[in-house]
Amino acid sequence: MDHFELRNGVLHAEDVPIPVIAAAVGTPVYVYSRATLTRHARVFREGLALLPRTHIAFAVKSNPNLAVLRLLAREGFGADVVSGGELERALAAGMPAEGIVFSGVGKTAAEMLRGLEAGIGQFNLESEEEGVELAQLAAAHGLTARAALRVNPDVDAGTHGKISTGKAENKFGVPYDRAAGIYGRLAALPGVQMRGLAVHIGSQLASLDPLEAAFTRMGVLLREVRAQGDAVTHMDLGGGVGVPYKAGEVFPAPADYGAMIARVTADWDVTLMFEPGRVITGNSGVLVTQVVRVKPGVTCPFVIVDAAMNDLARPALYDAWHDFLAVEPNGAKMLANIVGPICESSDTFAMAREIDAVGPGDLAVFRTAGAYGATMANTYNSRALVPEVMVDGARWAVVAERIAPAAILSAERVPEWLE
Ligand SMILES: *Cc1c(COP(=O)(O)O)cnc(C)c1O
Repeated sequence: MDHFELRNGVLHAEDVPIPVIAAAVGTPVYVYSRATLTRHARVFREGLALLPRTHIAFAVKSNPNLAVLRLLAREGFGADVVSGGELERALAAGMPAEGIVFSGVGKTAAEMLRGLEAGIGQFNLESEEEGVELAQLAAAHGLTARAALRVNPDVDAGTHGKISTGKAENKFGVPYDRAAGIYGRLAALPGVQMRGLAVHIGSQLASLDPLEAAFTRMGVLLREVRAQGDAVTHMDLGGGVGVPYKAGEVFPAPADYGAMIARVTADWDVTLMFEPGRVITGNSGVLVTQVVRVKPGVTCPFVIVDAAMNDLARPALYDAWHDFLAVEPNGAKMLANIVGPICESSDTFAMAREIDAVGPGDLAVFRTAGAYGATMANTYNSRALVPEVMVDGARWAVVAERIAPAAILSAERVPEWLE
């Protein structure tokens, strides 16, 4: 459910007509709905209501905008960060340090030290080597790092290969069979307090079955680790719940996810941690674009829009589908290819798709663009960095300004020896 709806023939974000934002800010522009974000956060939390002790750490990489993080901080969410930059954002948004989880396969010593000094709640270790380094760093500074060991459960998430993370050949976590041994060795080191195990098998999961298989394996490992005499007080079950990108698609409801977890973890006696990203932000945002022109094609016309793969990379990266809707549909339909202006054939949003009929100057939106949208934007082809807007009822605000090519140019230098 979201708050992007047609009213009197014009697409609105909550109570604000999309053309009002487009006229004021220009296009392309991301528009987020505060009510939708809040609703998704609450529905996710309510889905976990059966579980005795939980902590939700929003996956910042899905949408790191400061206003989005502030909103989620106010909903009581912590943050799952994967870089020093995301850590600074989470802190700047007011997320309490103890609610922050630091994930990621390549944390540098400087990033780990910043996390230690900030007093973050948990480092999710991706290797024994990383754990040893963190322990040494913490001990050298008279600190203790709280940590969990990320395990690769060798489970096929059944999602796109490029967003699958829990197969043995993926770079993430330690091999399942070696996890108990590594946990025991790290737990014996000064400077680190091993408190849990972590798992995250991939993103945009359409079924709960692979998650259940992974969590069941983690339960077996939990018992093994405890049997060898090591404490486990936290189990981090990652993120990954998918969202519908096409009208009519059905995805696991947070309540079903929570019920499955309650069943699998009934005797674990731990604090359960979650790292949802897409399920909170995905349907909370749209990318507004304007049609530049329409040119004939061999089988059907090309609708050339002013958004491109640098603004929304998912179709080019993962062949992802985003529904495309006219902002003021006239009821007619057309068969078209939707493309951006970038000089790459992969700058294609849709081929031979039936869409609302649009012409030059018309506004349209790509739906479900709130997750892995603006966060992946870049300035390829010397385009501007796309701005972001948040709507709240009848009011709205620019929450990230457009960064013009001139600003990027001004950070570049021609060395003296080329003058
Ligand atoms: C990307 C990621 C998430 C969030 O995934 P979603 O599919 O957006 O829920 C959670 N945890 C880790 C470790 C991740 O890398």
